[in-house]
Amino acid sequence: MTEYVNKDRVCQNLSNAIKIKTISHLDEKETDWNEFEKFYSFLCESFPMVHKNLKVEHVGRAGLVFIWEGTEKNLEPIAFLSHQDVVPVTEGTEGDWKHPPFEGYNDGEFIWGRGAIDMKNHLVAVMESVETLLEEGYAPKRSVYLCFGYNEELMIDDGNSATMIAEHLKASGVHFDSIIDEGGAMIQVKVPGVIDAVLAGVGLGEKGYADFRVTVSAKGGHSSAPPNHTAIGILSKRIESLEKHQFPESVPDYFVELLSLVGEKVCFPLNQVFKVLPHVRKPLGKVLTLVPEGASFVRTCQAVTMCEGSPAANVLPQRASATINFRMMQGTTLKDVEKKIEKYMGGKNTTIELLKGHEASQVSSTNTRSFNTIREIAMDLDDRIVVSPFMVMGGTDAYHYECVSDTIYRFSPFTAPVSVMSTAHSTNERVPVASLVEAVAFFKAYIRKMTT
Ligand SMILES: [Zn+2]
Repeated sequence: MTEYVNKDRVCQNLSNAIKIKTISHLDEKETDWNEFEKFYSFLCESFPMVHKNLKVEHVGRAGLVFIWEGTEKNLEPIAFLSHQDVVPVTEGTEGDWKHPPFEGYNDGEFIWGRGAIDMKNHLVAVMESVETLLEEGYAPKRSVYLCFGYNEELMIDDGNSATMIAEHLKASGVHFDSIIDEGGAMIQVKVPGVIDAVLAGVGLGEKGYADFRVTVSAKGGHSSAPPNHTAIGILSKRIESLEKHQFPESVPDYFVELLSLVGEKVCFPLNQVFKVLPHVRKPLGKVLTLVPEGASFVRTCQAVTMCEGSPAANVLPQRASATINFRMMQGTTLKDVEKKIEKYMGGKNTTIELLKGHEASQVSSTNTRSFNTIREIAMDLDDRIVVSPFMVMGGTDAYHYECVSDTIYRFSPFTAPVSVMSTAHSTNERVPVASLVEAVAFFKAYIRKMTT
């Protein structure tokens, strides 16, 4: 890839972006909206060509949609999503940071700070790619939309900025050829003698989410004269029954594809194992369920996470409740989950409530112009790269854009080992400078290929 990138400038821009504390709070009154205004000013000042040439629409409290009009109106536009907000730094851990979380310190190898990986890096790289293409006089045939929400990290339904932006676009009659958001990255995997590859994970969708609460009522009273089973005892048996009956596993097509692709990069003789895996789906599924991480790829997961009983040690519980978190595979609905709870936990004096939840996302095809373009550019970068479709376990803004596109990928073209990627939301969050430069080149190439 021969795309020019102004390395010093993009590094400076990311450092400056990190300095602005764009933290959203569940109670909007607690959010310092000045910081979001500052962030918008920063974008206008740091990307003057974007400011001059792109239309901007403001949605909700701080949502931004930049529109780079294409020269051919009949072509469907493409979109890049990013969230401006970052998670706060956990109180008491500020001192554990090697460099302060809101300084954007650049030591030459890494840029440090909150948002360096999730996801001011991505937002700044997208802006920088458009800025540079404009400087080079590039004019896209297809329009390019940059959609920046402001409360992705809150994981809320009401007041979700991604929903507001998507609905605003839908109302304006916009439908995208394809959308790119966060979710996957390029992970270096190196085990000497076994594998030396980079897995470029392109998320085709995300699992569904549900929190259910099951409450058992019973007679209260003094604990000195208890029945054999208290409400907690009854509830516990039902929890055990639910846990004994896990959702059935099934190995999805994209997972088989992923294993085959990874297998191509594995050294002899272990690569032979990968060759047979697609033909032994059933036992493969069984084996994967033996490890929690493996199970999460092949089945709907259920975790009993919270329990409540009586308020005092000598009081019998009049109510006992358990909250269960579910991550649903495509094909398992909220209704299916509820039915399963009823079957194993339902009974006399029992209520089942859905506290929060949404269905699994659609799954985007890998047979699209956008996916092929991502693959083409990635493979051009490094011959160790394996473009691997997968399913994102957490939630992203992308979920809310299904009303404006059928083709949505969750992919950040940043290369780093897992140890660096996992600093997102954590202490010492940082991004490799080299990967930031690579991402700008990646986005430039992507825009060019998609809009020429
Ligand atoms: Zn994020």
